[in-house]
Amino acid sequence: MNCHVVRDLIPLYIDGCCSEESAIIVKEHIEGCDACKKLFEEMTAPAHAPSVPEAPVRFNKLNDWKASVLQSVLLFLSFGLITVGVALEAGTDSGLMNGFWAINLVVPATGFMLSMVNWYFVRVYKSRKRFSDFSLIATLAVTLCAYIWTSFHYEMNVSALFSEFGFAEAYHVLSLVMLIHGLGIVLTAVFCIFSKTLSYQYAKMLGKE
Ligand SMILES: [Zn+2]
Repeated sequence: MNCHVVRDLIPLYIDGCCSEESAIIVKEHIEGCDACKKLFEEMTAPAHAPSVPEAPVRFNKLNDWKASVLQSVLLFLSFGLITVGVALEAGTDSGLMNGFWAINLVVPATGFMLSMVNWYFVRVYKSRKRFSDFSLIATLAVTLCAYIWTSFHYEMNVSALFSEFGFAEAYHVLSLVMLIHGLGIVLTAVFCIFSKTLSYQYAKMLGKE
C-alpha cells in the first residue's frame, strides 16, 4: 500500500478506529517501511501526550482549591459553633437550664465536625452518591453517640421524667423532651442535610463520578 494512504490511516490505527483489514495492512506496512514506522513511533511516543490536557489540569486545580476551601470553611464554622455552645453552657447556672446549650448546640455541631473525618476518605468510595449517603449516616451516627453520652452525663433519662409525671401525662413528658431537645433535633436534621448535600458537592469538585 501507498505510504501516503498508510500515513492517513495511522492516527485511526492508534485510536483503534479503523477496520480490522485496515489495521492489518497498516501494521504490516509499518513493519516493512522505516519511514512510516518512524512516524508511527513519533505519534505514539509519550512526549506528545501532555501538551493536550493543559486546560483540564487547570480546571481540576481550581476545583481542588474550591473543595479545600469548602472543607476548611465548614470545619471552622462547626468549630465556631462548638466554641459558642461551650461558652454559653459555661455561663449557664446549674439548675433546669444545665446542659441546655451542650445538648442543643455543642452535640449537633460536634457530630457534624467529627463526621467530616469521612471527607478525607472520599477517594475510597465508588461514587459521589455513596460518599454523600455515607456522610449523612456518619453525621447521624456520631451525633446519636454524642447524645447517648450526654444523656448519661446530664442524667436526663426519659424514665426519670416518666416516674415524676406518670404515664398518663405522656404528652406532657414529650413536650418537655421537645422543649429540652427541640433545638438540638432541628439542628441535627439541618446538619444531616448539610452533610449529604455539601459532601456531594465536595466530591463533585474533586471530579468524583
Ligand atoms: Zn511507508
